[in-house]
Amino acid sequence: MAITSINPYTGQVLQEFAPLAWSDTEDILRQAHEAAASWRTTSFAHRAERMRRAAELLRERAQELAHLMSIEMGKPIADGRAEAQKCATTCDYYAEHAEAFLADEEIRTEAQRSLIAHEPLGVVLAIMPWNFPLWQVVRFAAPALMAGNVGLLKHAPNVPQCALALEKIFHDAGFPPATFRALLIDTDQVEPLLADDRVRAVTLTGSTRAGASVAALAGKYLKKSVLELGGSDAFVVLADADLDVAAQNAAQGRMINAGQSCIAAKRFIVEQSVVAEFTQKLKEHMAAFQTGDPLDEATQYGPLARPDLADMLTQQVRDSVAKGAQIVLDGGQDAPGATLFRPMILTNVQPGQPAYHEEFFGPVALVLEARDADDAIRLANDSPYGLGGSIWTRDVARGEALARRVEAGAVFVNAIVKSSPEMPFGGVKQSGYGRELSYLGIREFVNQKSLWIA
Ligand code: NDP
Repeated sequence: MAITSINPYTGQVLQEFAPLAWSDTEDILRQAHEAAASWRTTSFAHRAERMRRAAELLRERAQELAHLMSIEMGKPIADGRAEAQKCATTCDYYAEHAEAFLADEEIRTEAQRSLIAHEPLGVVLAIMPWNFPLWQVVRFAAPALMAGNVGLLKHAPNVPQCALALEKIFHDAGFPPATFRALLIDTDQVEPLLADDRVRAVTLTGSTRAGASVAALAGKYLKKSVLELGGSDAFVVLADADLDVAAQNAAQGRMINAGQSCIAAKRFIVEQSVVAEFTQKLKEHMAAFQTGDPLDEATQYGPLARPDLADMLTQQVRDSVAKGAQIVLDGGQDAPGATLFRPMILTNVQPGQPAYHEEFFGPVALVLEARDADDAIRLANDSPYGLGGSIWTRDVARGEALARRVEAGAVFVNAIVKSSPEMPFGGVKQSGYGRELSYLGIREFVNQKSLWIA
C-alpha cells in the first residue's frame, strides 16, 4: 500500500511514496548496525555539538515544519511552531545533560571497585504516531542518539513528509546519515525488523492495540520495549476549586491538538455540588474555540487527522448516547467522512458506555459526577488507562495527597498535564510501560552494566 500524505482539511492528496521493499529496509538496517559500532565510541561532546545544531535547525525551520504538520495532519500552524520549539529545547536539554545522566555510578561493595556503567544498546526501532509528528519522535531520538544509540523511525503512514523533514534535520546537523533513518515501510516489516538480531530494542507511541501487538513481538524476539499508549486522563474538580480557572483549563486541555493528545484531559470528574456550574462554564469555553484552515494563524483547532478517526469518534458518541449519556454541547461531524469535528460535551457518563471506558481521541469532553473527593478518586482509577490526571482545588496539600492516590504516570495539581524534558513521562496499566524524558528516559535504552573489580 502506498504511503500517502493527504491534507485532512482539503482532502487533497499531497504526495505518495512507494513503501520500501524489504531488501532496501534490510540494507538501511545493515548500515545502521555498522554506524552503531562507531557512534557508540564518540564522545558526549561530539554528540552534543550535533544535537545543539539540530536544535538550531528546528528553530530555524519552525515555520516550514509547522506548515508540514498543518497540511499533513491538520495541526494549527501556531501550535506546530510551538512543537518545533519544544523539540529544540529537548535537544538542547539532552545535549547538556546526557553525559551526567549516563556517568558511571560508583557503588560501595566488598569489591575493590564496583560501578554501574551505562552503555548504548545499538539500533532502536521507533514506531511513532501522527498526532505530534515531531515531538513524539524527538523525545525518543534526542536521548537515544545522545546515549550513543542509533534510531530507525517507522512513522505513521499519514505523516511521511514530517518524517523525512526530521531525518534531514539530523543529517544536516552532522549526525552520520545511518544513525537516524526514516523508514517508509508498511507495518508488516515490523516483525522481520524485530526478529533481526541487529535491532536491539523498540519503542512505540500509539494506541493500546498497536502497543499490545508490538509488545507481543518484543516478547517473542526478546527485545527491550518501551510503550507510551493511550490515556483517558481524569480532570478532577473538587467543590473548593476556582471554577473559572478550572473550566478554562479544562477546555484548553480537552481542545489541545483538536483533542488528539494522549495526555488531553478527557474525563471531567466533578463534585456533585459544583457540577452544573462547572459544566456550564466548560460549555462556554469549548464553544468559543475557533476552527478554520490550520494554515490560518487565527485557527485554534483544525480537522481531525483522518476521516476514519472522526467517524470512529462519532460512533463512540452515538453508542454512549444510546446507553444514556446526554449531549449538553452538540457538535461533531457534519457528515460521515468529514474530518472536521466540532467540540462536544457528554454528561451522565456511566459504566457500560464507551465514554466511561474508552479513549475519546477528539474534542469530546466527558463529564462524570462524583459524590465527594473519595468517590472522584475511585472514578478516576476506574479506567483501564493510567497515563495522566489532574486535581483542581484551592487546598493544594489535599490536592497533593489525592494526586498520590491516582493510578497514573503523572498527576498535576491545578495545572493541565503536559510533558517537559526534565520530568519522566509514561503510564501504568493499559497506558504502557517504561519512561521517556528526564534522566530516566535516557536510561531505558542502555545496558546498565555492573563492573566489578575484585
Ligand atoms: P495506531 O496506534 O494504530 O498507530 C500508531 C503507530 O503505530 C503508527 O506508526 C502505526 O503504523 C503503528 N502501528 C499500528 N499497528 C501496529 C502493529 N500491529 N505493529 C506495528 N506498528 C503498528 O494509531 P491510529 O492512527 O490508528 O489511531 C487509532 C487510535 O489510537 C486513536 O483514535 C487513539 O485512540 C490512539 N492513538 C493514541 C496516540 C497517543 O499519543 N497515545 C497516538 C495515536 C493514536 P501503521 O498505521 O502503518 O500500522
